[in-house]
Amino acid sequence: MRIADKVLQGVTCIRLDATVTPAHSDKELAEPNFKGFGHHPLLGYCDNTDEPLAGMMRRGSAGSNTTADHLQVPGDAIAALPPKFRRRLMVTADGAGASHGLITRLDQLASRPGHQLTYSVGWELGARDRAAIRLIPAEAWQIAIDQRGEVRERRTAAACAGRSCGHARCWVEEAHVTELTVLLREGPGGGELDGWPESMRVFARRERPHPGAQLSLFETRDGWRYFLWVSNVPAGLRGWRAQLSYIDAAHRVHARVEDCIRTGKDCGIGRFPSHDFAMNSACWASP
Ligand SMILES: [Zn+2]
Repeated sequence: MRIADKVLQGVTCIRLDATVTPAHSDKELAEPNFKGFGHHPLLGYCDNTDEPLAGMMRRGSAGSNTTADHLQVPGDAIAALPPKFRRRLMVTADGAGASHGLITRLDQLASRPGHQLTYSVGWELGARDRAAIRLIPAEAWQIAIDQRGEVRERRTAAACAGRSCGHARCWVEEAHVTELTVLLREGPGGGELDGWPESMRVFARRERPHPGAQLSLFETRDGWRYFLWVSNVPAGLRGWRAQLSYIDAAHRVHARVEDCIRTGKDCGIGRFPSHDFAMNSACWASP
């Protein structure tokens, strides 16, 4: 599994994503949704091979992050793997997918003797997180890296002609990463992560917003766009996987799942043969 410029050997990565599939004729449970009319299946993809492992047909109006669905699909996806590929796993979900139910489920799967499972799941930016972000000292934000493992920075409009110069004024750092766990657990409010598994850590990335990006009031005032996620990557880990920039890169490669889904749609995913919901669900079972 590829993470920026590194390769993580021997780990099978499952990516969970909800997608919208259009229905061009009247099919059961096809409903209007934010992208038009159709179904809203939840998929589990194998990142290593770009193959669909499990999917759940859902009505068009189903939520992107409905907990009960997220509890079903990870187990189905693991069960679809040949046994020897089930022992070292990474599971990722994007959006603000981190519900109590999903994290508890992933924590259970991670606690099985003889198995390793690292999860990385999007986390909603709430009031407690905004308060923690305000307390992060400037030097605790580390520069993020891109897919090539290089720092994410660009030339300023007023940069000099030397395209790879070393002038600080010629470069803008585009994204930074930090960890909020200790502030949330032990900060002024304290106990903000009570009830969540001990091993869960909270990370934040901030990016320069694109022109026209939808920002919250907090982000508008702050000048950064924030993305949070949680992971059980062990605090005692050593080497490149323990670095914030790689923990971020491992979460961000989730975007690749969208390519898989696009390819899948080209190959017939979303073109359901039947009017009948159960028949269409059966199509998922044998991808
Ligand atoms: Zn310069």
